[in-house]
Amino acid sequence: MSSQEEGIIAVSTAVGRSGIGIVRLSGSEKLARFMLERMTDIRNPSPRYAHFSAIRDQAGEVIDRGVVIWFKAPHSYTGEDVVEFQTHGNPVIQNLLIRSALLIGAEAGLRLAEPGEFTRRAFENGRIDLAQAESVMDLINASSESAVRAAEKSLVGEFSEKCRDIEGKLIDLRTHVEAILDFPEEDIDFIKEGRIRERVDDLNQRVGTLLEQASQGNMLREGVVIALVGSPNVGKSSLLNSLSEREVAIVTDIPGTTRDIVENTIIINGLQVNLVDTAGLRETADVIEQAGIRKAMGELSRADLILHLEAPETLDSQAELDKIKHHVQPGTKVITVTNKIDLLRDVPGNTDSHVYISAKTGEGIEKLKTMIFDAVGFRNSVQGVFIARRRHIESLQKTKESLEKVREYLSQDQFFLDMVAEELRLAGVSMGQILGEFTSDQLLGKIFSTFCIGK
Ligand code: GDP
Ligand code: ZN
Repeated sequence: MSSQEEGIIAVSTAVGRSGIGIVRLSGSEKLARFMLERMTDIRNPSPRYAHFSAIRDQAGEVIDRGVVIWFKAPHSYTGEDVVEFQTHGNPVIQNLLIRSALLIGAEAGLRLAEPGEFTRRAFENGRIDLAQAESVMDLINASSESAVRAAEKSLVGEFSEKCRDIEGKLIDLRTHVEAILDFPEEDIDFIKEGRIRERVDDLNQRVGTLLEQASQGNMLREGVVIALVGSPNVGKSSLLNSLSEREVAIVTDIPGTTRDIVENTIIINGLQVNLVDTAGLRETADVIEQAGIRKAMGELSRADLILHLEAPETLDSQAELDKIKHHVQPGTKVITVTNKIDLLRDVPGNTDSHVYISAKTGEGIEKLKTMIFDAVGFRNSVQGVFIARRRHIESLQKTKESLEKVREYLSQDQFFLDMVAEELRLAGVSMGQILGEFTSDQLLGKIFSTFCIGK
């Protein structure tokens, strides 16, 4: 029995108790009808109709009563026949239901679903492309409103549409170039007319715009890491609270340290910011503490930006800053923040890398936010931003590199059209990879294994 002939079943709602819990099944029409007949009292199921029915186990005993919906292929999430059992949201009921369904349906090829398998089937049956499939999980995991909106746009296919459009234009152009290859006496005139160069420039610009939007979306998806450096009492905790849109959301203690090294996740204007407090990173002879410090240093190496916090009355922390700089990517930007300016009579003017604030009164906080966004390259506009993954960005970059090469070829006095055609082909393949057109089973497995079960 091939995997597509097998039916799959899983709980689709969160584990735990709730008003309603949904168990979902996907497979052939034969399996769907068989399961409806054996597990419910519905005799003439209508597609997409909310049937209220008893749901029964293998012995015919009632497990629960609830709404049962049959989605007939291809009008379902997976593109196969899907049956949804909506019971009371109790894991005991759901486990009973699944156990009975497996006992009843095993012979007919029913088994438990693997993580992301419903979505994988939707992809394999052409209901959605790979970028859309990925955005399903990104929508579920989105941690801010901006991220939700960006994921929603990717899910409905706005990002895919742009990719497909560019891919199509690349194919047109290559076909054209290949046609000229067959009539070499015409090619020079043709290039001189500038049509090809124009079209390459146009495509290059489109890819550039999409790359920018995808990079913003990737930032929304993954957030940024900011290292906070400063002596005790300069106001790190206070700053954290005044930067955050709500009370600090998550506090993670990295175990193995006596002094807590905390990473706080806050949302600033829709951007998820992971703040690593480096206060615990001072030298120590304690072995356990050293281990914790190494771990925190590992976190630090991901930092996109360092906030170096000072206050008028606090000892200079330059030495600590120098040490921290050692552990982050070379070239990581530093913003020096002087806090507690409410205590100062004269406040110096801000510069590009130095800002004066008061966490207490809120003065300078908006300016600091702007500086943070500038430093990490975040442009706080949801307009046209799609949730995107590194994979997509790498593909867009490859496409851009190929197009740049084509531009370079075309600018030379002499060039080979077959090299132009080959680069255009490569550019098209990279775009297609975003949509999952040339994707290996291995990569698909990797992508879908990070999904939750039941999705
Ligand atoms: P941390 O040890 O670096 O986390 O510093 P805290 O945020 O705990 O602040 C240390 C002390 O400085 C507290 O008493 C705060 O109320 C005070 N503080 C923080 N920010 C300001 C500020 O902008 N102005 C004034 N006057 N006091 C502040
Ligand atoms: Zn503190």
